[in-house]
Amino acid sequence: MVAPSRRVRKGGRQFEKDRKAFFAKCRAAHAPCWLCGMPIDYEAPQNSTDDSYNLDHFYPVSKRPDLQHDPAGFRPSHTQCNNLRGNKDPGEPIGQLSRQWI
Ligand SMILES: [Zn+2]
Repeated sequence: MVAPSRRVRKGGRQFEKDRKAFFAKCRAAHAPCWLCGMPIDYEAPQNSTDDSYNLDHFYPVSKRPDLQHDPAGFRPSHTQCNNLRGNKDPGEPIGQLSRQWI
């Protein structure tokens, strides 16, 4: 018997697999933080210290929840940088004035 068709939802187990694979890839490549460009401490447990690895999303999840589980949007970041970023749009500078006259 074939189960009734259900919408396949990405997430859950597949998401865990994707994010683990992404972490392994970043660690192997020593990928820097995409927000500040500094090296990430891949030896520290995830989200444990300011410069430990944290999975960030190119589009903030709060704005594009539909892309949350899309590996194409995954970015390696520092835990602290991700926290500072909040739900800002990509490319928006962190902690800087919008105008720089001086
Ligand atoms: Zn950073």
